[in-house]
Amino acid sequence: MSDACLAPQTNCTIDTLIQKILVGEKQYDLSKIVSAYELAEKYHHGQKRESGEPYITHPLAVAYILLELGIDTDTICSALLHDVVEDTECTLDELQKSFGTDVAMLVNGVTKLKQVETFTKDEQKAENIRKILLAMSEDIRVIIIKLADRLHNMRTLKYCKESKRRTIAHETMNIYAPIAHRLGISSIKDEFEDLAFQYLDPFAYAEIDRQMSLRKEAREALIEQIKQSIKERLAKDFDPVPQVEGRVKSNYGIYKKVYRDGKDIDQIYDRYAVRVIVNTVTECYYVLGIIHDMFKPIPNRFKDYISTPKSNMYQSLHTTVIGRQGIAFEVQIRTWEMHRTAEYGIAAHWKYKEGVRSNAKDDNRLAWIRRIIESQKESNDVEEIVRAIKNDLAPEDVFAFTPKGDMITLPRGATVIDFAYAIHTQVGHRMCGAKADKKMVPYDYQITTGEIIEILTTNVEGHGPSRSWLNICKTNEAKSKIRSWFKKERREENIVEGREALEREFRRNMIRVPEDELEDFLKMDMHRHNCETLDDFFAAIGYGGVQLSKVIQRLKAEYNKRYGEKNIVESNKAIQTQKKNKNNSGVIVDGIDDCMIKFAQCCNPLPGDEIIGFITRGHGISVHKTDCINYLSQKDNEESAARWINVKWKSVVDSVYFKTTLDIIAVDRIGLLADVSSALAAINIYIHESSSRQLKNGNAILTVTLSIAGMEQLNTVINRIQKIKNVISVERSGK
Ligand code: MN
Repeated sequence: MSDACLAPQTNCTIDTLIQKILVGEKQYDLSKIVSAYELAEKYHHGQKRESGEPYITHPLAVAYILLELGIDTDTICSALLHDVVEDTECTLDELQKSFGTDVAMLVNGVTKLKQVETFTKDEQKAENIRKILLAMSEDIRVIIIKLADRLHNMRTLKYCKESKRRTIAHETMNIYAPIAHRLGISSIKDEFEDLAFQYLDPFAYAEIDRQMSLRKEAREALIEQIKQSIKERLAKDFDPVPQVEGRVKSNYGIYKKVYRDGKDIDQIYDRYAVRVIVNTVTECYYVLGIIHDMFKPIPNRFKDYISTPKSNMYQSLHTTVIGRQGIAFEVQIRTWEMHRTAEYGIAAHWKYKEGVRSNAKDDNRLAWIRRIIESQKESNDVEEIVRAIKNDLAPEDVFAFTPKGDMITLPRGATVIDFAYAIHTQVGHRMCGAKADKKMVPYDYQITTGEIIEILTTNVEGHGPSRSWLNICKTNEAKSKIRSWFKKERREENIVEGREALEREFRRNMIRVPEDELEDFLKMDMHRHNCETLDDFFAAIGYGGVQLSKVIQRLKAEYNKRYGEKNIVESNKAIQTQKKNKNNSGVIVDGIDDCMIKFAQCCNPLPGDEIIGFITRGHGISVHKTDCINYLSQKDNEESAARWINVKWKSVVDSVYFKTTLDIIAVDRIGLLADVSSALAAINIYIHESSSRQLKNGNAILTVTLSIAGMEQLNTVINRIQKIKNVISVERSGK
């Protein structure tokens, strides 16, 4: 970006550093910084970086970056000393004596982060990320030193061993850039992304670089022209004229739009951007008016981040307009204070304000970090943690209000369940319905910005969340609260469910372990998930703490290792017999054996239904019910008449499950959905998905998709649901 505020400093020496301090406005304890440098120089003496330069150039460069961010004396000293405890004889005691508690504590924090920097094992990675987050929550300066350290390492990544470059770039893109973004330090975040991108996708980078430099002159002239015309117009109303900057989107920003959103490079509206910086908020809106008067705004591209700041505190007005040459460009309008927050984020506290640490502690940006740590306390799953960081980091958040007017910020796509849990854990657990702008909405309703969301709760004893919520809600906070409810409140149920799930998975993979050997067989996974007894392990599967899909591969391997060849041969035989009878669906087709069967989505036939087959092109036979509306409307169609074929159910259909969808109509009331799901849970019916909405006459319709073994079971289910209070009718969908 043309206005990057952190200029890479080559050959940084202590003199450059002192010079920088002397010309700046901020007061530093120069002699403390110089003695920190001298101690670092003494200990690192003779050590070299991978580039061949003396090692001390690295801590100097890190200190320089932090100086640009305007951070305090102790942080600069800690940056100079950040590698001495790890790499040299120097001890924390010595640092404590010479530089005080804060410096020792900061260096210790950074050192602890370094020790786990191995990228091999997943658990270690998870541990690593957790450590980063914990260090951040203790003293934000630790992570800011870490970000500066990583920035210098990324700038010099070309000297690093080739085998490590990609891993480091990957970690930077996935963990450090999001953290910098969340802390609002866009100057570092943008540079992280651009540098990492060069190593992660070198070909695409080169191509974008080539295309961008192709039109470099024309582009710069264009921006210059736009800038000038805006300045001239502003000069009529402002004295002095506000700052007007022009910029081109970063290469990575363009890459995202071209490769991820599939846009043509010429279609990217905000490829060119102009920024106007003024003194007051009122002036922001005034300038917006002028811009819209000068150029034609593109509809729906205006965003007011002043009245609704992003969750990382970013504020500006954004609008996209069409210039005289017919080229669209983005205009950002902000005050100087907003500008500092945008560039330096949380670090702006240090640069422009005093009394830093108490301020930083209450910062919303830190509340987010604490939330992630809290929700990830028990997880060892790296993917999950990285997903948590990224999910909670989605740049576009939505904002909604409680009826009392409190604003709740959630990631895009969040549902009313997420909203309930964001208010309070108990509100989530007791939730029995929700309203958006006074209208009843289903549980999977996705919140949009500006809505007033009211959560309806019940005090019925024993009421709690439903397992299906886990698939509906979006935030990790809600998920982990729901899981921990099940973990605590439903241990008995969890054990039963977990055992059944494991047995099902075993059957599917033809694993047969004698009951008395089971505990020993699962020993390793139990240990890994901190489960002491088999029941603990089943319970963990039941509440979702252990994901079977994640452990089954290892169990399969373990099974083959322990129970050997014989079993493999046997199971292969079993598979072959199954293949021979192929048609595992429970349906016999007239005159054709060995053909592919699938059940039509429109009517989902069950054993016992009257059925008919349709010969599809290339996808085998699709089985419909004879009262299916699609069959009834198509059967007399001349062209396809010959493709309908008689099929019937096999006399014994064993252990095959069918998806069936039911429409339940009921007088709407609190707790209806909860009653239906607990009735189904009581007879061990698995719910794939469910949704509900209100009908015009005030009744509610619940649609649930279930796993059903056959007509007999279906009738049991329907009977059971009909007994629930206020239920009017239960019918299979799509008749
Ligand atoms: Mn370092």
